[in-house]
Amino acid sequence: MKFVDMKCSSCGGQMEYAEGYYRCKYCGAIMLKIIDAKIDADVEHLDAEEFERKLEESKRSFLIRVDEELKVVDAKTAIVNKRLQNAKKSLEGRNYERVFGDLEGVTDDIPAAVRLRFLASVKVKDEYELSLCKFDIKNDWYRKFVSQCEDEETRRSYEKIAEICSLNETLDKELEGELKVIREMMSVGLKEEPLAYAKQICSKYPQLCKSWGEYASVKCQLDPDYNCTADLEIMKKCPDYKWDFVPIPVRLRREQVIRREEQNRKICEEKIRAEALEKTQLDERLNKNLEEYKKAKKTFIWYSVLRDVFLFLIFAGGLMIVYAGMKGLEELEPLLALGMFLQIGGVIVSFICIGPVWESKKECKAILSYLEPYYDYRNTVCAAFKKLKKILALLTIVFVLIALVGLALMVFGLTKV
Ligand SMILES: [Zn+2]
Repeated sequence: MKFVDMKCSSCGGQMEYAEGYYRCKYCGAIMLKIIDAKIDADVEHLDAEEFERKLEESKRSFLIRVDEELKVVDAKTAIVNKRLQNAKKSLEGRNYERVFGDLEGVTDDIPAAVRLRFLASVKVKDEYELSLCKFDIKNDWYRKFVSQCEDEETRRSYEKIAEICSLNETLDKELEGELKVIREMMSVGLKEEPLAYAKQICSKYPQLCKSWGEYASVKCQLDPDYNCTADLEIMKKCPDYKWDFVPIPVRLRREQVIRREEQNRKICEEKIRAEALEKTQLDERLNKNLEEYKKAKKTFIWYSVLRDVFLFLIFAGGLMIVYAGMKGLEELEPLLALGMFLQIGGVIVSFICIGPVWESKKECKAILSYLEPYYDYRNTVCAAFKKLKKILALLTIVFVLIALVGLALMVFGLTKV
């Protein structure tokens, strides 16, 4: 509703929204939106937005036209205009006393001056605030303004506002009486009754902020965990909302809720931070483990290959011995010696290799069993290692067989010598 495109009904100019009313930029006419009907609300299931919508629906428009400037005919009217302007500024700044000073010498036959004096006399800065007053506003200034006002609609609006103010007064007195009953019920230890009563008060006086405040207050006192945030939101939507009207139990509960929310937020943040730290630490550890695994794997591959090479040398040595045996020893004695040397060396080195191969394989397995839960087993390092192990084992078997053949050749060669 606040952003509705409003045209001034006096001059057709664009109207701007201020708190509670629209003002024409050109002629200064004011369009008030005042609650003028009882609203029906499902007290228990009402949210702030729906409440605001219902309030808007029950508002009526009231137009106020006051010529804020006189037509300048001489120096005197120019001064009067300046005084009116100053008084208007003082009123907007709530310097009510100064309004009278600003208007000194301005006669009471100028309606704009009488209006400003009247508003200052009841200590409000505009007609919207005036409509929220809870007392009889018909003082001498009011009567003077209404009698001088030439614009019929403005006069009707003023009369309606006066009616609303006296209704406000009646309702406020009634409400105060009801609130007293609720507080008395609470003080004697009743529980269900004050709650039901307070709810009833809210549907009876839904536009009055105090009724929602009392309802929230009862709920806060009955339930130590009650969160009054939604009630406060509704209170704030009431046209007569003031922080002074928020009952003490509700204020205390609101502070408590804010504190608790703050605590929860901190705990959450800490948890997130701890989790992030844990994750980085885990990542670091996993990376370190992965590096260690790569190193161990390298050792494993190297020693396996080395062993296979020396197993092959046993075979080569066997071939040499056979060759030397077949050809006769004399000129091939060095070859026989080399063959023997290769065989003995091959056996020794391949036996020496067993230790490191075994150790590095065990290390790889140990690291992988730790890494395994963090990696997908089927297509990552773990699977790759299994494959590698198989290939190397197969090669070892092949080369052991070849070496055995080499040894057999050696025995066969030596018999020929
Ligand atoms: Zn206008």
